[in-house]
Amino acid sequence: MSIRIPSLQSKLPDVGTTIFTVMSQMAHDYGAINLSQGYPDYDGPELLRERLSWYAGNGHNQYAPLAGIAALREQCAAKIERFYGHTTNPDTEVTITPGATEAIYCAVTAVIQPGDEVLMFDPVYDCYDPAVRLSGGIPVHLRLAAPDYRIDWDQVARAVTPRTRMIMINSPHNPSGSVIDEQDIRQLTTLAEAHDLIVVSDEVYEHLVYDGREHASVLREPRLAARAFVVSSFGKTFHVTGWKTGYVVAPEALTTELRRVHQFVAFVACTPVQYALADFMASTPEHLDQLPAFYQHKRDLFNEALSASRFRFTPSAGTFFQLVDYSAISDDDDQTFVRWLTQQIGVAAIPMSVFYQSPPEERYIRFCFCKEDATLHKAAGILVAL
Ligand code: PMP
Ligand code: GLN
Repeated sequence: MSIRIPSLQSKLPDVGTTIFTVMSQMAHDYGAINLSQGYPDYDGPELLRERLSWYAGNGHNQYAPLAGIAALREQCAAKIERFYGHTTNPDTEVTITPGATEAIYCAVTAVIQPGDEVLMFDPVYDCYDPAVRLSGGIPVHLRLAAPDYRIDWDQVARAVTPRTRMIMINSPHNPSGSVIDEQDIRQLTTLAEAHDLIVVSDEVYEHLVYDGREHASVLREPRLAARAFVVSSFGKTFHVTGWKTGYVVAPEALTTELRRVHQFVAFVACTPVQYALADFMASTPEHLDQLPAFYQHKRDLFNEALSASRFRFTPSAGTFFQLVDYSAISDDDDQTFVRWLTQQIGVAAIPMSVFYQSPPEERYIRFCFCKEDATLHKAAGILVAL
């Protein structure tokens, strides 16, 4: 019997397995300390995990409502009011999703028509460009220049055309750790209004901002909030990346379009996880206030230990990532360097070039510091010897 396989034309022919999966697998295969993919090597709060097992053990295991359970949407709205002074209607403006990735995909898919141009900034988080292309949109890659990785608003203004429909921003920024400020928000507001752009603001690291800074959320500016999908992730905020639960805040008209897509992509997010998160947010609001100090301690511990090394760096302003320049150690390109670092030296990292349409000149790699202090000490102890 001959079995005939169907002809196939890939919709993403240039895309391989994500670098995060590749590097974590390599770290595992070579027994390296994994400072590549961004996830903690410690658990989320005990009470949160206890609430999940309670709900899973007590009959909360069927579909949630499409938008997410009311109690969690209300907690999100209360948190947004508290941190950003923005009043959000939990029924019509908040949607719980299976992770920020799905939220971003649905926001893009809900809005982008074939031929629409979408502005994004390299180094760019890996799910933005494919989402745009799958909708027939055209990703327009601008640059954040090292070492500051700030948005050059003149460059942005020059890139706008009559086909520009959306701008995607990410602050605190993965992978660079840079953050936007009020001045950026003002520039973004002027630009978005002048050209009638929709904004996707990826704020999954909103509570991981250091050195006393406040997170410049798009939700602080009503004129921007009126034209934005603001995306966050409970995975980052509560140390449970594997729970894959996030949310999107958007004005009612945008939320309606988002839900039209979301109901046919995932339909809903996981039910007992939503109940557990709602309980934990209600009972432990101080968790959010403690996060900056918790992670700043880890950043400082890692950086202090690395200061004796030949890596050069500027301390990260946000996220749980630290970029380092390895050019004093090696002339290799970054992919070769991280392979060597993982396989021969025993510490895994992420190469920066994967976040660019055309490779950057500087030689940087990304380390993740959401790890036990002992893990960070151990990794730094190895890295200072290079
Ligand atoms: N955006 C950025 C910038 C991220 O770093 C991540 C992280 N993993 C996501 C989106 C996706 O988050 P989630 O795991 O909730 O899908
Ligand atoms: N956002 C995480 C990182 O940057 C990885 C998430 C994923 O593997 N998709 O490391």
